Amino acid sequence: MRGLDDLDVGGRRVLVRVDFNAPLAAGPEGAIEIADDTRIRAALPTIEELRARGARLVLVSHLDRPEGRRVPGLSLAPIAERLRELLPDARIAFAPDPVGERSRALSEALGDGELVLLENVRFEPGETTNDPELARALAELAELYVNDAFGAAHRSHASTEGVAHLLPSAAGRLLEREVKTLTGILDHPERPLVAIVGGSKVADKIAVIDRFLQVADVVMIGGAMCFPFLCAQGHTVGESLCCEEDVEHARHLLARASDTHSPQPGHARLLVPSDLVIGDRLADDARHRVLDGVEVPAGWMGLDIGSDTAGRYGREIERAGTVFWNGPMGAFEFAPFAAGTRAVAEAVAKAPGLTVVGGGDSASALAHFGLEDAVDHLSTGGGATLELIEGRTLAGVHALEGAGVA
Ligand code: ADP
Ligand code: MG
Repeated sequence: MRGLDDLDVGGRRVLVRVDFNAPLAAGPEGAIEIADDTRIRAALPTIEELRARGARLVLVSHLDRPEGRRVPGLSLAPIAERLRELLPDARIAFAPDPVGERSRALSEALGDGELVLLENVRFEPGETTNDPELARALAELAELYVNDAFGAAHRSHASTEGVAHLLPSAAGRLLEREVKTLTGILDHPERPLVAIVGGSKVADKIAVIDRFLQVADVVMIGGAMCFPFLCAQGHTVGESLCCEEDVEHARHLLARASDTHSPQPGHARLLVPSDLVIGDRLADDARHRVLDGVEVPAGWMGLDIGSDTAGRYGREIERAGTVFWNGPMGAFEFAPFAAGTRAVAEAVAKAPGLTVVGGGDSASALAHFGLEDAVDHLSTGGGATLELIEGRTLAGVHALEGAGVA
């Protein structure tokens, strides 16, 4: 994959695809505020390096899903404001359209080290359909293309894929670091490689568990993910999240795992909870109790792993050469069900090995416990991170590999 070192950017206009898809929140008097600017800050190394090298930057990003229409609440204007705060020395213009005459005039007026941020590219219906016309309109704004939007790199869209074929292209520093770190832990991890998979989107993560069973030494399951496995082992799950289709997937995964007592290469040990915290609903004041074991009675839901499980998982994390964690161990947003996620987050934060965390809710869990700076790599991707781990080629990365020479 070509990187920033392969481009001669001085005095040239560079279209930079960034991932400014930051969560928004309603502020006082209906003002739109940025709830979390992690993704904006993650793009700064590439932006600062390009500015220092005299590039003229045309920044393009999506925000949420306006579905090809101009949705005023999803304008990138507040993001331009935040960017001005983060880069007080930079001249930053905002183009009120993603492409077109005004955007072209603003990009042509750029001086060395100056920036223009284009309006939400998903206001254009051609973005998500990867329309060649939109890709051409974006390419006309610059002479070079840099993709630093790891969070959108699995999308085959005009600003992530189509445009890469039209300009000399390279990966930005964030995209490069994400791909290197995530492929590195799969291809040549310091062992033992320990994967912890939780969260609620069971169907989305079956392929991730499958891959880790092949490349990791231990795979530990928590969150709502564990109920299909427990059900497949013959336990009762009460009202816990669990559907028949996922139980079938879990059966196959259990069959692929190693026998705990005689591990075989290419077949990780698969650990599931041995105790649980159950509750009657998802709320801070829910009725809840600690279950010694995993038989969830009718009328109750399993909403966190128990302390025995957290201790077992913690000991594996402590001994790991590499830890990958995706997905909370329980419904940590609610006080009675936060302890398991907190214990695993603390174990990951203290682990001596390389620690990598992916997933939006896992990142919020770390932030919730004040531990976001205690891991070695906090991935900015959700779907992109999972697809990379599954071993799939990301469309945006593939397009860069096939790109022409500057
Ligand atoms: P990530 O974004 O890190 O990939 P997911 O989106 O898969 O994680 O899942 C996160 C959500 O899973 C959290 O909102 C959490 O409340 C929920 N969750 C975790 N465990 C359970 C459970 N046992 N029952 C219901 N929801 C759960
Ligand atoms: Mg999530």
